[in-house]
Amino acid sequence: MSSVTVFDIKRFAVHDGPGIRTTVFLKGCPMDCWWCHNPESRSSKPEVITYLQKLGEKEVESKKVYGKSMPIQEVIDEVLKDKIFFEESGGGVTFSGGEPLQQVDGLVKLLQLCKTHGLHTAVDTCGYAQWFGFEKITPYTDLFLYDLKVLDSTKHVRFTGVKNELIISNFQKLVEKQANIEIRIPVIPGVNDAEDDVKKYINFLQSTSTESFKIHLLPYHNIAGNKYLKLHLKNRMEQLTDVPVLEIENIKNQLQDAGFMVGIGG
Ligand code: SF4
Repeated sequence: MSSVTVFDIKRFAVHDGPGIRTTVFLKGCPMDCWWCHNPESRSSKPEVITYLQKLGEKEVESKKVYGKSMPIQEVIDEVLKDKIFFEESGGGVTFSGGEPLQQVDGLVKLLQLCKTHGLHTAVDTCGYAQWFGFEKITPYTDLFLYDLKVLDSTKHVRFTGVKNELIISNFQKLVEKQANIEIRIPVIPGVNDAEDDVKKYINFLQSTSTESFKIHLLPYHNIAGNKYLKLHLKNRMEQLTDVPVLEIENIKNQLQDAGFMVGIGG
């Protein structure tokens, strides 16, 4: 594996781990979340999407390519451009997706090279990957940003297309290995924001570890509608509005009262 399929590289990211970071988005995801903001990141291959735009009376066709194959060294060269900012801010590199573990061999090489250059590394994962992948990357990963989207198994299948048992089992194994983990919970109205859902999170996390976790609540925003339209994809969350600020504060307070460190946003 000398190259990876990259969906995007975002420099000066401040919500994907500590300090100033470069986030490398690897293409491909095994899940199908109804609220996904980046539906064009799911396919593992580069995609050409045709857009139709109205210009006056005319319909004009334009094409955009999502994703490209990049040699691993080229990704590292890109990342190293901002090494000075990482050092000044306590930042580093975050590998996100899609799901970065979909390209596990390339991910291992990227992480190894980052460590060779003394960079702090984070992996932003949905957790739905074979355990051997986590085993491979853990020695080179300083921080896992781990999504716990829905704890109710039936709802998880309905809203993401996959069961959550593997995600939960991987999470528990990482905790056992004493990996450094911060949890990300996308708060989706009607899916995981009820009092009962919050209680499930508290019970699960308290039964998994006696250590306190840092939790990031990521409130749903209805911002991807236009993207779904342009991609000719069905937007299953079309009717959903943003989560009210008071509701997020309420969830934050419940989690804090249970002993967790909670932030809103990445
Ligand atoms: S895990 Fe992330 S990238 Fe994959 S479908 Fe869900 S929201 Fe989209």
